[in-house]
Amino acid sequence: MKTRFAPSPTGYLHLGHVMAAKAVFDFSVDRNAQCLLRIEDIDQTRCRPEFTQAIFDDLGWLGFSWPQPVRLQSEHMSDYQSALATLRGQGLLYECFKTRSELAAACPAPLSKAELAQRLSAGKPYALRLSIKACKASLSGKALSYIDNEQEKIINLDKLEDIVVARKDIGTSYHIAVTHDDMAQNITHVIRGEDLQDQTPYHVLIQTLMSWPVPIYHHHTLIMDKEGQKLSKRSFSASIASMRELGHTPQDILARAVI
Ligand code: GLU
Repeated sequence: MKTRFAPSPTGYLHLGHVMAAKAVFDFSVDRNAQCLLRIEDIDQTRCRPEFTQAIFDDLGWLGFSWPQPVRLQSEHMSDYQSALATLRGQGLLYECFKTRSELAAACPAPLSKAELAQRLSAGKPYALRLSIKACKASLSGKALSYIDNEQEKIINLDKLEDIVVARKDIGTSYHIAVTHDDMAQNITHVIRGEDLQDQTPYHVLIQTLMSWPVPIYHHHTLIMDKEGQKLSKRSFSASIASMRELGHTPQDILARAVI
């Protein structure tokens, strides 16, 4: 059994992260599983090395430990390109040139050959989307299911959208990087926040299309602040570093990081 804690270094860790880390590390201790730390830093405009270092420092100070070396996704961008090339080679992806405001007005759809050639020759930037229609054809009726919070979930492909699997700006996406790495690192159990629960059917779809194993999923609840909002780096929740400076001990912080 193997699991992982996979934060994105876009800011300093706060209590919500500690709670998430605790959920994963406690799961691994209870089941005698290995727990990896993975840094999900594909978005180099938002991720910073000092935040990665702070993750190591804060988690270490709190008493968590993990095997070395830690996988940094930014060092494996070519792996994600290979996975995208496989999906593209199966005819499952299409180029999407639409801007955010155009997408608000109309759903994305593949362009005609002529339109596509014209946009490509004009050098317009594009995202790659996963065509659910093409996926359906490729799966030819195969039922997709997975375990989430100990229950079997059946995927209804008709409810899924053509998600972006390669962003215009970074050429890959969270969906590709996370599923690729869970495969590459032999992750058997994915423990993560319920904010990602709706993404799981897409991950299982990608794993199936790529013939990668489907891990067992567990989504935990998130700590809410007083206003009922999810705690996040953007809402300026107190960082662990600042709590440490104020004299809080790891025990205080771990005791507060409960669901
Ligand atoms: N990197 C993601 C995040 O920071 C978590 C990925 C996952 O656990 O699947 O929200």
